[in-house]
Amino acid sequence: MKTNIKKVIGLFILAVLVSFSLDAQTKPKVYILATGGTIAGTSSSQVDSDYKAGAITVNQLLSAVPEILDIAEIKGEQVANIGSQDMNDEVWLTLGKRVNELLKQNDVTGIVITHGTDTQEETAYFLNLVVKSDKPVVLVGSMRPSNAISADGPRNIYNAVACAIAPESKGKGVMVVMDDNILSADDLTKTNTLSVGTFQNPNYGHLGIMYDGKPIYTRESVKRHTTKSEFDVTNLTSLPRVDIILSYSNATAQFAESAAIAGAKGIVVAGVGNGNMTTVLMNALEKLRKEQDIAVVRSSRIMTGPTAQWDEIDDDKLNFVASWYINPYRARVLLMLALTKTNDYKEIQRMFAEY
Ligand code: ASP
Repeated sequence: MKTNIKKVIGLFILAVLVSFSLDAQTKPKVYILATGGTIAGTSSSQVDSDYKAGAITVNQLLSAVPEILDIAEIKGEQVANIGSQDMNDEVWLTLGKRVNELLKQNDVTGIVITHGTDTQEETAYFLNLVVKSDKPVVLVGSMRPSNAISADGPRNIYNAVACAIAPESKGKGVMVVMDDNILSADDLTKTNTLSVGTFQNPNYGHLGIMYDGKPIYTRESVKRHTTKSEFDVTNLTSLPRVDIILSYSNATAQFAESAAIAGAKGIVVAGVGNGNMTTVLMNALEKLRKEQDIAVVRSSRIMTGPTAQWDEIDDDKLNFVASWYINPYRARVLLMLALTKTNDYKEIQRMFAEY
């Protein structure tokens, strides 16, 4: 009798072990790369909006969403722990290289990157241009710190992991999941300083929604082919300096000239209207292009609509580039990468039409 009980217990333990190991084998593997931000922030109170970004680690962050372990095998890595207002080229290059390295592994299904919302659109676009895999890469943040009432981070992380493991998420380019929406890096903008639904794709509309832990896509990413872009971060250790100069009534040439003195290799103008600027600023930029070979891209401070070539400004005569649907923050990212390849304005214009 005793031996029978022992046998039954032995078989039960074996069955549990086998099912655990099968479970681990069958669950898709997702890497969560943490960089900081409000999603990893804590506040002195559960109701106030003051807080310190990047205060908790990736493991503490993940412990708030144990449900993700039911759907994926999770590996966490702490890449940085900063407020994204301090995001920088070094972290971008580290992220770009690490994402490419991980996605080459057959057993990795996708990547989730936790990131502050302030500059998330820049990092998402940078990765969209340099990631060489069709596997899903999803950025996620939150607007409320981790210990706030109704913190949005845990739900956003769950949705981001669920989005990253879904087969239909392949080949969509880099995405952002926030507030049950799936957004594309190709047209991403933070539109509200406080709202949990801050991110939008104002020109093209969101890619889809997360519903009951599954993505429902309603459009394709406009720039899906970026996995084959000419930009390669493998051997890059730095990026060329590019500054953004704002135009407004009475804008002078002073900031553009200072950027050149500080070593900028490119300048993006956040212009008025269709990428226009004061005559004095335009003349100064023409001079910087001709005499110092500084690349000039015209973009717009307006949230929607293209900055079109040859409208009120003759780009070919000035050797300027028009950014089309790329806003100044993303235009800066693309120009930095473009300048790792060429300084020819026609080539850079091709890239702005393509990416
Ligand atoms: N300042 C924070 C950051 O970007 C804001 C946020 O995450 O929402 O890191």
